[in-house]
Amino acid sequence: MIKYNLICKNCNNLFDSWFSSSHDYDKLNKNKYINCHNCNSTKITKNLMSPNILTSKVKLELRLKEEKYKIIKKTMNEHQKFIKENFDYVGDNFAHEARSLHYKSKKKKKGIYGLASKQELQDLKDEGIKSEVIHWSKDTIN
Ligand SMILES: [Zn+2]
Repeated sequence: MIKYNLICKNCNNLFDSWFSSSHDYDKLNKNKYINCHNCNSTKITKNLMSPNILTSKVKLELRLKEEKYKIIKKTMNEHQKFIKENFDYVGDNFAHEARSLHYKSKKKKKGIYGLASKQELQDLKDEGIKSEVIHWSKDTIN
């Protein structure tokens, strides 16, 4: 079964109709079996305008979404690159390393970054150790 959006050339009435195939539609239309519900005219044609507009609109929305995602991804990668260059990666030792940085009077030049659980972050916060949570895409961790 195939659904066509049809238009009456006589009164511009738009309506949908089901056919068993495109061939079926051609045959019925050629023999003037399809008529307008509004004016009974048999000058019916497929309305190709609206599906095309719809398709390109959907395509555009998809493209915009992709663009937006690319920008987010790019910002994320730049953010991650900056951190990699300026911070030391400590893996899942983050909470421990953050504490030693915080409690040692001698300060490290570089900051650190790594993995921490929510609980660890909360504990650090309670101890007055500042940490920032960033969203990290896993595939770029080396
Ligand atoms: Zn009509």
